[in-house]
Amino acid sequence: MSLAHDHNDSGHSGPVIDTSNGFDIIECAQCGFRHASPLPTAEELEATYSEEYYSEEKPDYLAHAAEDAEWAQLAYDDRLNKIEQLLGNPPSKNKGRLLDIGSGPGFFLERAATTGWDASGIEPSQQASSFAKGRGLKVTNDFFNAETAADLGTFDAVVMTNMLEHVPAPIELVELAFAALRPGGVICITVPNDYNGFQTSLRAKGTKPWWLAAPHHLNYFSFDTLEALITRTGGLLRGRLSSFPMEMFALLGDDYIANPELGRGLHNKRKAFDQALDPAIRESLYASLATSGLGREAIVFAQKNS
Ligand SMILES: [Zn+2]
Repeated sequence: MSLAHDHNDSGHSGPVIDTSNGFDIIECAQCGFRHASPLPTAEELEATYSEEYYSEEKPDYLAHAAEDAEWAQLAYDDRLNKIEQLLGNPPSKNKGRLLDIGSGPGFFLERAATTGWDASGIEPSQQASSFAKGRGLKVTNDFFNAETAADLGTFDAVVMTNMLEHVPAPIELVELAFAALRPGGVICITVPNDYNGFQTSLRAKGTKPWWLAAPHHLNYFSFDTLEALITRTGGLLRGRLSSFPMEMFALLGDDYIANPELGRGLHNKRKAFDQALDPAIRESLYASLATSGLGREAIVFAQKNS
């Protein structure tokens, strides 16, 4: 089965539902999810992600990430636990090979390595991958493509966190990620849950669609469209999770969209909430939100046919 198609051709069509920084956002009939049009070429995006991204687009990222490390570990552990459960691994010190595609500064990778995974990452940002290597992690500084995938080998688990929304050809990328899995291997994909019901409720009351961010965010997934993409590449769906629905603060009256200075304080409240909850209750809450298509992130687990 070949689904490869040129994302720079005119083979994308569908109603224009929004515009963002001069790009149309279309409900693409061919792809089955919402994306920017026209799509920038891979070459146009390469400079952004290899050089500028963490310094220009996310200048506070590393400082905030260090501050958030303890809280972030809860979400890492929830994902790793689910992956281990799906693989049916007995608890052991050698959990298998895990690849994090778009591993950034390597915080997830570090947690995976600490808990018994043979963990590797691949990351185009020179700055982020150097940071991870400096912490003793195995990271290749490159884009994940057919060539680099062949060098990396085969894995028991593949993770892609907040990267699929950035790439011009996500279908091909997910196909490649599945190709890197052994039969029965597990993939966990996390993307922003865009156009979710809390967001569209706010929009209906006059809030601007703040989640639109072309050309950095090219694709706008929901749980359903992400699952459809995974199914299309042959993956077997194995469950959903989400994360705290930040939009709820705005619905409660703390409008961090109009007043971005509220953002950090509200983020700290959500951290406190996550940390106060019993882990089993947290998991069941976020799984329930995911069932309703709600929550800030769409996290989908799938398995390769064995
Ligand atoms: Zn398309």
